[in-house]
Amino acid sequence: MNGFKCNRCGALILFDNFYTVKDDKVYCGICTSELIKEEMRKTGKIELYLNTYDDDWYISDWLGNLRFPIIKKQIIINKIGRYRRIYKVLFKLEDDWWFGIQKGNLSNICQCRRITNDKNSSTTSV
Ligand SMILES: [Zn+2]
Repeated sequence: MNGFKCNRCGALILFDNFYTVKDDKVYCGICTSELIKEEMRKTGKIELYLNTYDDDWYISDWLGNLRFPIIKKQIIINKIGRYRRIYKVLFKLEDDWWFGIQKGNLSNICQCRRITNDKNSSTTSV
């Protein structure tokens, strides 16, 4: 056997392909992205990764297939405190605006939440 089948679309996944395992089910890279988007639409929050390469800033999943370009960003530099650098970003999934915050230098994990369709969206500033 050279691989296994994606639990969602049935595509053959080879061992050197990117895939994820969730609840004992295997998903190909494309379906992983779709599942993340489904979760975002349903729950309004998600943990993703912020990538900051020069002018190319984007939010991605850990496989790197999913990619949301950053539309607006803010970097906060703290002279004191636990987190010296805090990144605040805005991006869009379809028609919805999302806010992401990434703290510290140890990882690029970005906590994201939807700010449109949210009663408090008018009070969120970036
Ligand atoms: Zn698939």
